[in-house]
Amino acid sequence: MNVIIFGVGYVGLVTSACLAQVGNRVTCVDIDATRIDDLRNGRCPIFEPGLPELLREGTQTGRLQFTTDSAIALEKAELVMIAVGTPPDEDGSADVRHVLAVARTLGRQLRHSVTVAVKSTVPVGSCDRVAAVIREELDKRGANFPVEVASNPEFLKEGAALKDFNKPDRIVVGSDSPQAQRQFRTLYAPFNRNRDRLMFMSVRSAELTKYAANALLATRISFINEIANIAEHMGADIEEVRQGIGSDPRIGHHFIYPGCGYGGSCFPKDVRALAAAARNGGYRAGLLAEVENVNQRQKRTMFHKLAELFGGDLRGRTIAIWGLAFKPETDDMREAPSRELMEQLWRAGARVRAYDPVAMAQCRRIYGERESLVLCDSAEEAADGADALAICTEWRCFWAPDFAELKQCLRRPLIVDGRNLFQPDYMRDQGFSYHGIGRGESL
Ligand code: NAD
Repeated sequence: MNVIIFGVGYVGLVTSACLAQVGNRVTCVDIDATRIDDLRNGRCPIFEPGLPELLREGTQTGRLQFTTDSAIALEKAELVMIAVGTPPDEDGSADVRHVLAVARTLGRQLRHSVTVAVKSTVPVGSCDRVAAVIREELDKRGANFPVEVASNPEFLKEGAALKDFNKPDRIVVGSDSPQAQRQFRTLYAPFNRNRDRLMFMSVRSAELTKYAANALLATRISFINEIANIAEHMGADIEEVRQGIGSDPRIGHHFIYPGCGYGGSCFPKDVRALAAAARNGGYRAGLLAEVENVNQRQKRTMFHKLAELFGGDLRGRTIAIWGLAFKPETDDMREAPSRELMEQLWRAGARVRAYDPVAMAQCRRIYGERESLVLCDSAEEAADGADALAICTEWRCFWAPDFAELKQCLRRPLIVDGRNLFQPDYMRDQGFSYHGIGRGESL
């Protein structure tokens, strides 16, 4: 199939590389000329395990191309995918400006009938708006061929994106057009072999399914963090409680890890966007507001613990931070808990020595050179001479450090662990003052 994908971010690039690998001809269009230039020259603009190799393969076979010229790309298009960003607006609602800009381009440049799949996460009703904008532009030039707009939300996870795309749990398609449904069946057949994962539903249900999935996952995280805070005040250990509740198959062990809050490019923005969409539709989604509030508080927990441990005065202190990305296996620092912690530490007059296996360049891009931030080449170097260590991301390389060496490096053997990587008893035996999340000690 001839597929055109607008937007070469995480979703667009992964989708295009995977679709090209199985034999489709895919052209990626982006307004960011530098990104397109990088991709043409074999440089992958994002960190995603396995993606650079797959992009190279696609380029070498000639099935994967990159351009800023949508008009030429659209000449042979059979299916158009919109995978541009939907950043948060001022009031938290999703800004669909980029999606609608692509719709206008399509209305102006299409010369024949195509199916348009909206992969971006968009509020309920957005696909209708996309269809209306395309129709408006087609009408202006008297073009009367049909353009079908379907919702096809993406569920991939950064860090495991290729696996998620190639072996999806489900493929949601919102469309009531039999012809479009046939097209999606053909497109996704290589990813839909051992059982049928395609779920056809109404456009609006598909749009809401994406938000509902992210909102539920975020809710589980905020729920367990709430219980962790209760545990801390009551002398219980959340890690025991977590296992106790997770063993109930109705609850399960997934997504009930307590920590320093969720971040990333999706959960925070999607929870807020869903609440805002509900509000605009006349419904107050109180649960979602509280999921967000709990998360905001949770992101400040590590700072409060550190502040208390230093008698409320962090001026002149140096804090080592392990992990800057919002989760392991990505360099994405959007809304990462590490950012909240660093910014609070700086406001309190402390300095930061930070290490992350892949997000250092990202961190440099966000914060630039500053006296209060030293970016280190290793976890040990970050800890060297620091007054305390704070762990923000559960990268595998942080799970079993040489504790004797770590104690030597730190000026004080003090660890605030936002991911509960270690056993409190063991850490005490090793001579550390160790503070996790919800581990039965209220500071
Ligand atoms: P991103 O910010 O990484 O990339 C978006 C790309 O779109 C950028 O390269 C930008 O230049 C391009 N763009 C903007 N306007 C354009 C236009 N008019 N024409 C062509 N290109 C344009 O975005 P992302 O993280 O890939 O997310 C894309 C969408 O998918 C969002 O709605 C997001 O919520 C959703 N989503 C993201 C993930 C994820 O893990 N990142 C997972 C599922 C869904």
